[in-house]
Amino acid sequence: MLIVMHHSALGKDVEKVKKTISSIGFKAVAIPGAERTAIGVIGNQGWVDDTPFRGMKGILEIIHVTKPYKLVSRDFHPADTVVKIGGKTKVGGKSPFLLIAGPCAVEDRKQTFRTARFLKKIGVPVLRGGAYKPRTSPHSFQGLREEGLEILSSVGEEVGILTITEVMSPEHVGLVSEHVDVLQIGARNMQNYDLLKEVGKTRKPVLLKRGLSATVEEWLASAEYILLEGNPEVVLCERGIRTFETATRNTADLSVITLVKAISHLPVIFDPSHATGKRNLVPSMALASVAAGAHGAMIEVHPDPEHALSDGPQSLNFREFERLRKQIGALEGFMKTL
Ligand code: PEP
Ligand code: MN
Repeated sequence: MLIVMHHSALGKDVEKVKKTISSIGFKAVAIPGAERTAIGVIGNQGWVDDTPFRGMKGILEIIHVTKPYKLVSRDFHPADTVVKIGGKTKVGGKSPFLLIAGPCAVEDRKQTFRTARFLKKIGVPVLRGGAYKPRTSPHSFQGLREEGLEILSSVGEEVGILTITEVMSPEHVGLVSEHVDVLQIGARNMQNYDLLKEVGKTRKPVLLKRGLSATVEEWLASAEYILLEGNPEVVLCERGIRTFETATRNTADLSVITLVKAISHLPVIFDPSHATGKRNLVPSMALASVAAGAHGAMIEVHPDPEHALSDGPQSLNFREFERLRKQIGALEGFMKTL
């Protein structure tokens, strides 16, 4: 429920409304805004009886929220959220387009180090690399797990680049948080609610990928789990959805970038690698995401894609990625002139 106050409402009217909200066992969230003062009610698991608020001084309107999410919506938080990674790097709002790049999986120290050094040299702020890999087949490379985390964090520190990796189970959240700057929730785990709650208890930024067949509503409801635990640092990542089409690995649903930005204040980035599954489609889709207003992109890059242990066919080599990075920069500059 949202309680919208009159422009002329006094501070004490707002306080009374907040007190009434607590007295019926819910939590009040102040929603600041130039246009209006509103108070959100959270903690309820269904319809809230608004009788106690009827006739209270200063109230303009009571809106019952029927969506399965509140905190992630612009109704409850009108201004863009800007997520800070490692203190300085920002994503969201009017921040520069954020590039995250690196191999699908951390394979060994040399591969990770070479990639990190290359990315650092060309000014990419965040290195990706999976240590725990959610593979469709149990016979595929499953990731180096703890060893992969060690490699990623030591390389990140040595090279001076931020890091992100996927966390697949609630028990690993503590360990993974000690090693990287951003926790990634993969598409297959978008609805692993215990995992979402666990990352919500940390103060690490979380990259939440859209599930393979998840609707926008389900995706945002998953983000809500993280915010409800007290962690507002969530970045949404569209990575393609499963459709009848098999010519591409997934169907790149670029329309959700604009759509989600209208509904939610959270940053939205795009992953053209998993969205297409094909190296030759990655550059055009990455550029399309810039044009669509994405806040950033996560792109798989490997020193030797032909011999990658996972997702080689969709990984760019260094030369291909450097070219794309320049094109992204140019397009970003052009978009600002429009
Ligand atoms: C990945 O980023 O390597 C990955 C497994 O992605 P997704 O969860 O989107 O399939
Ligand atoms: Mn991958």
